[in-house]
Amino acid sequence: MTVILDGRKLADKIIEDLKAAALKLIKKPKLAVIFVGNNPASQIYVESKSKKAQYIGFDSVIINLPENSTEDNILEHIYMLNEDKDVNAILVQLPLPPHINKQKILEAIEPFKDVDGFTSYNFGRLSLGYKPYAIPCTPKGIIKLLDFYNIDTDGKNALVIGRSNIVGKPVSSLLQQRNATVINANSHTKNLKDLALMSDIIVSAAGKPNLITKEFVKHNAVIIDVGINRTSGGLKGDIDFESVYPSASYITPVPGGIGPMTVAMLMENTLDLYNIQKDYIY
Ligand code: NAD
Repeated sequence: MTVILDGRKLADKIIEDLKAAALKLIKKPKLAVIFVGNNPASQIYVESKSKKAQYIGFDSVIINLPENSTEDNILEHIYMLNEDKDVNAILVQLPLPPHINKQKILEAIEPFKDVDGFTSYNFGRLSLGYKPYAIPCTPKGIIKLLDFYNIDTDGKNALVIGRSNIVGKPVSSLLQQRNATVINANSHTKNLKDLALMSDIIVSAAGKPNLITKEFVKHNAVIIDVGINRTSGGLKGDIDFESVYPSASYITPVPGGIGPMTVAMLMENTLDLYNIQKDYIY
């Protein structure tokens, strides 16, 4: 029987645990979000992250900068947040406007406040198998969900579709560290279906609705759908859920799978960074 990996339920539990932990703290952890422009989807994400932080009992601030901000202007805000002893976690909401060099902005974040784990310090440590200050939230959420359902990755063939720094690359590293044999596909990959049919675990982060149908999935595969695609039929993942469900052993829904886990991991990372900084005089 196929099991639906209920990311919302686990995320809710993690949030309640964080809320209980926050009650015991003398000082509130603080998350600062820099949001440049007015992309409506980003606005919704930023507000929901901030609301969740406040629900837990964290402080949170959104710094909304105009679309035509210069790199220097954004950097100034990051430097101020780096220096601000009350701020524990800094997040720059992506995407940034096209005239902004994303790498330059993300690299300016102090690594021990880098709540997304996107600086080369944290990302490099993750890739090397060393402990970073923070692991990127979506990949961390995927692994948490697999662990919660006791899904073993050791010796398994895993196909990760997508090679972004946000999802594809870090989740490939994490699965490798858990002794999976990982193939990382991208949009130039020629034989996706053959690779998928060899895979015990498929993580799809391509942003292509219905990319994976039942013809791509071997019996009892574990299916993790990271995709969020706004279609005329509503919010869809990359997986054709209805057709794939009967073949899968475990499968995440969209919505209600990896999305809520990502937000929960952002909150967990905020508390982790707070704990790292609380005894540190800088
Ligand atoms: P991205 O656009 O940066 O990367 C997409 C990747 O998919 C690229 O590496 C590309 O080469 C690959 N790709 C595209 N078409 C492919 C194909 N046909 N075969 C193989 N590879 C293909 O996107 P991203 O930021 O990694 O996000 C991917 C998806 O995940 C999006 O739908 C995004 O909205 C979603 N997402 C969800 C969450 C969440 O919390 N659930 C978090 C981050 C991203």
